[in-house]
Amino acid sequence: MNEFELIKKYFDKKHGDERIIVGIGDDCAVVAPPVGQQLAVSSDTQVAGRHFPHDTLPDLIAARVLHCAVSDLAAMGAEPLWFTLSLTLPLSDQSWLESFSKGLFDAAKDYGISLVGGDTTKGPLTITAHVHGSAPDETILYRSGALPGDQIFVTGTLGDGAAGLAVAQRNLNTDDESAEYLRRCFFVPKARIKAGLLLRYLASAAIDISDGLVSDLNHLCVASGVGAKIDTSRLPISAALLASVPTRQALDWALKGGDDYQLCFTVAPDQAEELSAHGKQSLDVTWIGEIVDGEGIFESNTGQRFDDDFTGFTHF
Ligand code: ADP
Ligand code: MG
Repeated sequence: MNEFELIKKYFDKKHGDERIIVGIGDDCAVVAPPVGQQLAVSSDTQVAGRHFPHDTLPDLIAARVLHCAVSDLAAMGAEPLWFTLSLTLPLSDQSWLESFSKGLFDAAKDYGISLVGGDTTKGPLTITAHVHGSAPDETILYRSGALPGDQIFVTGTLGDGAAGLAVAQRNLNTDDESAEYLRRCFFVPKARIKAGLLLRYLASAAIDISDGLVSDLNHLCVASGVGAKIDTSRLPISAALLASVPTRQALDWALKGGDDYQLCFTVAPDQAEELSAHGKQSLDVTWIGEIVDGEGIFESNTGQRFDDDFTGFTHF
C-alpha cells in the first residue's frame, strides 16, 4: 500500500462541514473560519517512547495526540474547528493503521471536528496534530490577565495523568478498576472545551495543565506579573488515585505530575459569585487558591515556596 492509498483508506473520511471548502486531496486545505472571529492555532507532537510507551495501542496513541492538542484550544476559550495530522511511521501496517484511524476519528467526533489534511512520512513513530479553533474578538482567554485578589480554580481532578502513565509503564499496581480509570486519564484526556467556552466570560486568565499544576500556574503568574498562594489541602484528587497510592504521592502528582489536561484559571472576586451561579458543579471546578502581589507560587498554610525542585516536566 503506497502513501496515497494509505491516506485514502485511513484518513480521507467524508464530513458534512460546509466551512471546509477543500479538505484532503489538494496541496492545501481551504477553510472558512467563522466571520468576525479570531483563529486560535496550536500543535501537539507525540514521540513514541517519549510521550507514550512503545507498546501503546494505536487507537490510544491517536486519541491522546488529538485530545492534548485540543486542550490548548480549551485553555484559550476557543471552539475547535478542524485539524491536520502529520504522521511519521516506521512501516505501513494495516491493522495498526486501522486501529489508529478509529482512535483518531472517535476523538475527533468528541469535538465535532474534521481532519482536513496532513503529511505522511517514514521514520521513527511520531505524530503531530495541528488544531484550529476560533473565538469572538475580546473573548480569548490569555495567560496574562490575572490580577492580585483573583481566585484560582481548576477543573476536574489532578494527578490522575501521572498515575495513569505509571500504570501504563507498569510502575504502579492497583485494583483493576482504578488502573483502567487512571490509564484512560493519561491516554484519553478529554479537553475541557465546555468549561473553556463558559470561562470566556468569567475568567481573567487560563492555562491547561500539561506539565503539572505548580509549573503551569507559574507560567500563568509569570505572564500576568503576579504570584499565587495555593491551599494544597483543597486540591481535587480522585478516589481512584487515593485508592492507589499513599496520600503524599497523590498530592505530589497533583502538584507536579503533569498530563492532566485540566484547566487552571483565575476569576476576579466580583465574578466568583457568577461562577457559582453557572454551577461550579456542572463545570466540575474546585477553588484552590488566590493570586497575590509579587512572584512565585506558595503553599498558603505553611508559606512554603514551591521552587526549583517543584518545577514540572521539561524536555531539556
Ligand atoms: P503535498 O506533497 O502537496 O504536500 P501530499 O502528497 O503529502 O501533498 O498529500 C496529499 C494530500 O493528502 C494532501 O491534501 C494532504 O493534506 C493529505 N495528507 C497527507 N498525509 C495525511 C494524513 N496523515 N492525514 C490526513 N491527510 C493527509
Ligand atoms: Mg503540494
